[in-house]
Amino acid sequence: MAFEGLTERLQNAISGLRKKGKVTDADLRETMREIRLALLEADVNFDVVKDFIKTVRDRATGTKVLEGLNPAQQIVKIVDEELTKMMGEEAVPLNKSPKIPTIIMMSGLQGAGKTTTVGKLALKLKNEEKARPLLIAADIYRPAAIDQLQKLGSDMDIPVFSLGTDVDPREIVRQGLAQAAENHNDYVFIDTAGRLQIDEELMNELADIKDIAKPDEILLVIDAMTGQNAVQTAEGFDQRLDVTGVVLTKLDGDTRGGAALSIRAVTGKPIKFVGQGEKMTDLDVFYPDRMSSRILGMGDMLTLIEKAQRDFDEKSAEEQMQKMKENTFDFNDFLEQLSQVQNMGPMEDILKMIPGMANNPALKNVQMDPKDMDHIKAIVYSMTPEERENPDILNPSRRRRLAAGAGRPVVEVNKMIKQFNEMKKMMNGMMNGKMSPQMQGMMD
Ligand code: GDP
Repeated sequence: MAFEGLTERLQNAISGLRKKGKVTDADLRETMREIRLALLEADVNFDVVKDFIKTVRDRATGTKVLEGLNPAQQIVKIVDEELTKMMGEEAVPLNKSPKIPTIIMMSGLQGAGKTTTVGKLALKLKNEEKARPLLIAADIYRPAAIDQLQKLGSDMDIPVFSLGTDVDPREIVRQGLAQAAENHNDYVFIDTAGRLQIDEELMNELADIKDIAKPDEILLVIDAMTGQNAVQTAEGFDQRLDVTGVVLTKLDGDTRGGAALSIRAVTGKPIKFVGQGEKMTDLDVFYPDRMSSRILGMGDMLTLIEKAQRDFDEKSAEEQMQKMKENTFDFNDFLEQLSQVQNMGPMEDILKMIPGMANNPALKNVQMDPKDMDHIKAIVYSMTPEERENPDILNPSRRRRLAAGAGRPVVEVNKMIKQFNEMKKMMNGMMNGKMSPQMQGMMD
């Protein structure tokens, strides 16, 4: 996940203050120096860091912060507010045209994630608004770009307009728009070509497409892994195309994350979405305040909840809740829950969104091996329907049979059944209003 290093360094910088009842000027200077280094190390643009540090320092000294009761908390608050401001304050929605279709043009370097993002966004609109988008394949240079878009389209049941690789992209866009008008599509996405670097020919082509299509939205797709270069690329595209929004991709990767912090401040253009994985559902609206909380290690419960809502089948979740309440939750429900959790992505990443967990040392050792999940599933699959519904009948001889069936040792079967029973007990308690002290602590 992006920002790991930054979170750790920022927390270290601030933890020094936590121990002090009163903060001197020298303490503040030292903390600001560490915050500055942390940001620079995370690849945040130099000028952006300079402005940020100045603002935070002025606010911290200008107010009565230093005499406050809990100086560390007040400084975290200022840093949180200024980080949020740096990234744009509020989520900025997609521009929409008053009459159909809304035309969205993609731009960005090769490999940034344009084609993937077209798929993700089109799917999001289809799911959320029952939209009927048309995707125009205007990247005729990158080998397989058209095939990739066509495959995405057919997987998601979204039409793709293509004239192959021998027709000029400008002409493809003209004809694609005509088709969208004829078919009354409400959104049109134009997937354009990228290059390894910005060049004149590419910019001319994109500028021409802009003139022809008069897009309501020009999204610039930027790969967060490219660090400092991301900001230069953004400036280059923006100067020529006057983009209306940015999509930052690959924030799930091992990036230092500085691009997310600098792009808005340098270009003035809002980051509208972030890509956090290769799956078609791995696209999130960019909320500067939530991102700031995540960077400061304060967790991102709202995104976690939304993710759960999106990836979970609501009806089955409700049924499961009911069963937990009635204490009739069985191994069939357990299997279903396991596969839903697996859909959400790696367990370590999910846990990190919980407040206080991002830098929890305990988490460093949590490595949920997908194989463990598979073993658990294999054991459940070896059960008879009766055993799944009635875990209580699992006596030692049945357990031995399960072990043989799943190819796992009996101790593992025993452990799994024990965990299942404990989980069931805990969930039943929770559903009926009893919370463990740890859970209670998280909610406070
Ligand atoms: P394009 O040349 O700009 O159209 O780039 P593509 O859409 O083909 O993406 C290039 C590669 O990046 C593909 O392998 C995508 O699966 C991958 N990719 C795109 N967005 C993301 C993301 O948010 N996270 C991850 N991990 N990979 C991504």
